[in-house]
Amino acid sequence: MDLRAHVDRVDAKIGSLRTQLTALADEQALTSHDDEHDPEGVTIAVQRAQLQALLAGAERDRAELDLAAERIAAGTYGSCAVCGDPIAAERLEALPATRTCIVCATTRRGRQPGT
Ligand SMILES: [Zn+2]
Repeated sequence: MDLRAHVDRVDAKIGSLRTQLTALADEQALTSHDDEHDPEGVTIAVQRAQLQALLAGAERDRAELDLAAERIAAGTYGSCAVCGDPIAAERLEALPATRTCIVCATTRRGRQPGT
């Protein structure tokens, strides 16, 4: 299993979102002399919040991929963390950082391993 392509994609997304946030901050610095009463300033604030939410999500994905890389190194990647069964290749393809098989993900959601 090679996570490289997934990591590259998430990294590119994070880079792009950071660039957009920086550009937005620059724009805001130029226009926000009266943030609360300037409709432009409010629009920028909303866009910024959306970008920050997307960035947080992408960073979470990135952290999950790092953990997946650790499991590959440890030889436990591809085994369900709950039941220990192999995770289906199609599922890993779609969700490379997943830790559980489809059965555990759908029927035992929220339960801790070993309970
Ligand atoms: Zn399972």
